[in-house]
Amino acid sequence: MTSTPEACILAIEDEPEIRKFLKVVLSNHGFRFSFAETAKEGLKLIKAKPPDVVILDLGLPDMDGQEVIRQVRRWSRVPIIVLSARGQEQDKVMALESGADDYLTKPFGAAELLARIKVAQRHAHKDTASPDQQITSGALVIDLEKRLVTLRGDKVDLTPTEYKMLSVLALNIGKVVTNKQLLHEVWGRHVEDNSHYLRIYTQHLRRKLGDNPMQPKYIVTEAGIGYRLKDND
Ligand code: CA
Repeated sequence: MTSTPEACILAIEDEPEIRKFLKVVLSNHGFRFSFAETAKEGLKLIKAKPPDVVILDLGLPDMDGQEVIRQVRRWSRVPIIVLSARGQEQDKVMALESGADDYLTKPFGAAELLARIKVAQRHAHKDTASPDQQITSGALVIDLEKRLVTLRGDKVDLTPTEYKMLSVLALNIGKVVTNKQLLHEVWGRHVEDNSHYLRIYTQHLRRKLGDNPMQPKYIVTEAGIGYRLKDND
């Protein structure tokens, strides 16, 4: 997967240290970027000069970050990566359900930031084209057209529910999918509270994929938030 070095990133962040860190990382990797210190300024910039990716701090001085997401989503599908503190899982879930694409927990490193931007760009570009029929994560291949899953070339036998869950994660490869989103997609809207389904089916999938739950290579549990299929090379 190639990155788009000339992509323009807008970061809405009131903390000078985080802006400084973002500036160093983004400029070192050839991104164009601009900063806004308030929600109001950020919204103005998104309208005036739509960026390729928005990095949004949830704790801004003039407006709740959740409200910023809701406002942006009325007119734009630009990828939004939210920044939030550890322990604020509910805020992250709310942001994802309001239309944010992913999140980073402060403090975060350069590699993590760049990986999230890359995934956000990949999904943004995919929206306009037809979705990939074949999704690959390392040795794992999910063929959505044939409904076939292979690992190192060998067919993995999955039940229809296991397949459905894996395919939802695959369509969002690299991105977190919230528990609620997964339950809705796989079991329908009536099972909202049964997040133990997800734990059970994740166990099944990991066993069939030979994945170690302590150090998963494919399906990662994001505690209190959801699951992510790793975007392995
Ligand atoms: Ca802040």
